[in-house]
Amino acid sequence: MTVRVLVTNDDGIYAPSLWALAGELVKDFRVYIVAPDREQSAIGAAISLNHPIRVNRLPPTMSGELEAYSVEGTPGDCVIMAINSLFKDGIDCVVSGLNEGSNLGNDVLISGTVGAALHGYFLGRPAFALSINSLKPENLEPGARLARLLVRLVAQGKLPPKILLNINLPDLPLAGIKGIEVTYLARRSYTDIIEEYVDRKGRSLYWITRGRPVWEEDEGSDIWAIKQSKISVTPLEADVASREHIELLRSLAPDLFVGLLNLD
Ligand code: MN
Repeated sequence: MTVRVLVTNDDGIYAPSLWALAGELVKDFRVYIVAPDREQSAIGAAISLNHPIRVNRLPPTMSGELEAYSVEGTPGDCVIMAINSLFKDGIDCVVSGLNEGSNLGNDVLISGTVGAALHGYFLGRPAFALSINSLKPENLEPGARLARLLVRLVAQGKLPPKILLNINLPDLPLAGIKGIEVTYLARRSYTDIIEEYVDRKGRSLYWITRGRPVWEEDEGSDIWAIKQSKISVTPLEADVASREHIELLRSLAPDLFVGLLNLD
């Protein structure tokens, strides 16, 4: 059986990292590229419900042997379109990346790269999000090769269908990478900086830019692995419910309800 792999990303269809990934996967599998027509980083798992989506097939002169579509929408739209419409029942597995920039720790909650993989996971496909720890990555080969090996594991039945992996790679050549660690998500906090500008009509414009992140670098976390020049593989699930505060909230809930009925 030929494995049919959907390749997508959030950096847009013209990102070289997308084509490096697809070029490696097509050595073993049937590859379909469906990616946003422009950069959609930090859009998370958003889907477009308030406007129509156009899909354009790239001509063979641009896409080589690969079947590639650009979508006027989010990474999540791309996955839903591909699985539910473009290739009905024809996608076995979703690979998102290689993102230009890491997606570590709490970033998985806003990452478009992970968001795309999440929709694959929701639709019952094994899904892999791969990111490189550099905004201008120079080493695309390790991530592309790892993706190929992971899809082989899917083909061999060695991974369950319900699996979502968040993978981060150091921007190093193969020979510089020290190993693979299976990790949990580090806690990361940003100090987001708001820069204010004034437009030609005197109205304020704001840019949100991300300050330097502060990491908890505990052993076993994804950032800890990357800092050791290792590949980080974090299995994810979609349940973000906190176990920590359930008992506290259960003790407060009855009085909250009484208060709700009696608030004057
Ligand atoms: Mn991106």
